Amino acid sequence: MGMKLPICAFCANSSALCAVDEPRLEAGEIDQADIIISRAIARIGRRSRALQESEIVRGFDLGDRLVIITREEDVGRIIGKKGTRVKRLTDTLGKRVVVVGQRDDVRGIVDRIIYPGRLRAISNVYTDTGSKRLVEVNRAGEIDLDRFVAMLAFLFGGEFEVRVLDKKKRDDE
Ligand SMILES: [Zn+2]
Repeated sequence: MGMKLPICAFCANSSALCAVDEPRLEAGEIDQADIIISRAIARIGRRSRALQESEIVRGFDLGDRLVIITREEDVGRIIGKKGTRVKRLTDTLGKRVVVVGQRDDVRGIVDRIIYPGRLRAISNVYTDTGSKRLVEVNRAGEIDLDRFVAMLAFLFGGEFEVRVLDKKKRDDE
């Protein structure tokens, strides 16, 4: 049993895409982040039994950081002892890499991703079309908020909005 990635083993170990994954990319089922993360993990995983047994669900490029979504039981494997493996991934990919478990709760996932920013509140707000979850954070670095919202919707379903509280409001707290 090899590792499971968002793309197949052939695609993960070559620079080409197969007749299955190419259409998946075009349809937006996967994107470039899935591909670059899968290839980096495949490369590092060749000599790592722990990685060979892991499952990567998706990768998201949030601008200044990359998020790897895995099964909960694989988070530690991807991070590695004392963070050595995630550091290697960060060096390879040239961006900070954050690993989160697929079934972590919204609060836990937002906290991990925006660190050193902090989550302030999550609330339900009504919209014209129903409702959405409003996630308020004190800062979010250079995170691409649209991608962040897309990632939260992928994980939890429904609509999200991420709002970065302005500096003045922060200073008042
Ligand atoms: Zn493929």
